[in-house]
Amino acid sequence: MKAKELCPICGGELEETEVKEDIWLGGELLVIENVHAKVCDKCGEKIVSYDEMQRIDRVINEFNRGKMKLKRITAYVASI
Ligand SMILES: [Zn+2]
Repeated sequence: MKAKELCPICGGELEETEVKEDIWLGGELLVIENVHAKVCDKCGEKIVSYDEMQRIDRVINEFNRGKMKLKRITAYVASI
């Protein structure tokens, strides 16, 4: 069995999981689902691998060229 990777911030255990990545592009928010990341079970630190960053970059490129099928969500913004 492979030893668990530890969080560089707090030393907690990293759990491999899928997360949503929120990316602001100008005034628009692009949410990318099914991003593979390792998340710390103690402090919640999220670590995305280099390969996964490349995938995200590709998605942003496609998004910028208007070539993506997108789901719409509703968001509300409040100022405090
Ligand atoms: Zn941690």
